[in-house]
Amino acid sequence: MVVAGGSIGGLAVALFAARAGHDVVLAEADGFPVPSGVEETWRGWKRRGVPQFRQLHGTQALGRAKLASRAPDVLDRLRTAGAHDVDLLASRSDARQRTGAEGLVQFRCRRPVLEWVLRQAVAAEPRVGLRSAVEVTGLVVAAGCRPRVTGVATTRGKLPADVVVDATGRRSRVGEWCVRSGTAPPTTCTVDTRQVYFTQWFRRDAAFTGDDPMLRVELPCATLLVLPVDAGWFSATFFAPAHDRGLRAALHSTDGFLGALRAVPSASTWIEDARPIGTVQFMGRLANQLRRPSARSPAGLLPVADAAVCTNPTWGRGAALALAHADALVDLLDAGEEPATLTAAFTAWTVENLEPWFHDTVLLDAETNARWAGARPAPSPERPFSHTDAVRTTRTDAGLHVAYLRYRNLLDMPAAFWSDPEIVDAVHAGSGALGGAP
Ligand SMILES: Cc1cc2nc3c(=O)[nH]c(=O)nc-3n(C[C@H](O)[C@H](O)[C@H](O)COP(=O)(O)OP(=O)(O)OC[C@H]3O[C@@H](n4cnc5c(N)ncnc54)[C@H](O)[C@@H]3O)c2cc1C
Repeated sequence: MVVAGGSIGGLAVALFAARAGHDVVLAEADGFPVPSGVEETWRGWKRRGVPQFRQLHGTQALGRAKLASRAPDVLDRLRTAGAHDVDLLASRSDARQRTGAEGLVQFRCRRPVLEWVLRQAVAAEPRVGLRSAVEVTGLVVAAGCRPRVTGVATTRGKLPADVVVDATGRRSRVGEWCVRSGTAPPTTCTVDTRQVYFTQWFRRDAAFTGDDPMLRVELPCATLLVLPVDAGWFSATFFAPAHDRGLRAALHSTDGFLGALRAVPSASTWIEDARPIGTVQFMGRLANQLRRPSARSPAGLLPVADAAVCTNPTWGRGAALALAHADALVDLLDAGEEPATLTAAFTAWTVENLEPWFHDTVLLDAETNARWAGARPAPSPERPFSHTDAVRTTRTDAGLHVAYLRYRNLLDMPAAFWSDPEIVDAVHAGSGALGGAP
């Protein structure tokens, strides 16, 4: 098996597959030497292939659960590197005994720390051949009534493979590779989020613990998220409408950003004893995206993680979905099916388990964009209540709080939350009692 792309998705596939007894060659286009220590991961690790490398990364509880079952040593190494576990019910004793409360734990660290620890674990696997500075440039395909991959072309020659995992992320060129090999590209669907990101990093002297909460503030024209991670580092991020040029101009400069942060009372206290690190980091052109192999795409070609399903990062889903996708792929590899059957089964799994998160994120974005425009979306069969009302009601309804956290942490599928009649009734009753204001 060849895995193209050695970021979170590709590393997870390589690690989980190797530990399940499969041989893997992992080709990663970036070639900068991997740092020797955790601090160098931030200062010196050049990851041109991952523009979001130094953006905030929260990891939902599903991601931690997948690591705990497939690679618990990686969680231990993350803790050694400064990551900390966060009990999401720490401040809600009323919710702790509710059904589903178990497993609501995240880990928090900077993304380079997560990738560094994963990369070290993969490098130690004897079944993985790690090829840095090797870019995959195309597919090698055997013709037939159902064409099948027999390898990849790379900047360093061909690599043979019966299965090719495309883990090259949201900008994957797999469609071009298919067309050039005379096969059908995956079908794609892209929905612009119409949102942009501004992140400023800070550091305080004391390290964070599981008791340090994150802060999410819904402002009239933007959302602010303050996320404590490892070793006293925390990020402050404004998610803002892409079209608001005035706001964008203000948030681009460190002074403007700090001014905006100080204007939010609950956030201003965070920066009293902390120093800003670096400058404001901008990220735009964010889209929700699906790439699904068609029945005429080559057998053995498997897009994973962002290359298959990419969701607006404001909801912090990508890393956990990548780990879950890798976990599911290895379950199917273990069944030992031939490539065409494996491809069909993996595509079906993705449609059932990952694509709902794409559709859910598109609906969440629509509500956010409407709220920033001063509107309120009308209820629909898919959205019988708003996200805003659900969050408000969780403050007084412990059962709903657990259900909401399980959905937000990807432990329960979107339909289990939005279509459960008891949840619908609870939110309607709760938001009515609370006044239902946006
Ligand atoms: C601004 C921003 C913020 C985010 N915040 C969060 C968050 O808070 N929480 C969260 O869970 N997720 C977040 N994400 C998403 C998260 O980064 C991804 O879901 C996660 O990295 C998994 O992506 P991936 O491994 O599929 O691809 P990527 O991380 O995009 O990596 C693709 C890899 O493939 C390599 N590559 C590309 N082309 C080739 C080629 N031809 N040959 C070989 N190698 C190649 C690249 O160098 C890179 O290493 C964020 C994303 C963005 C854009």
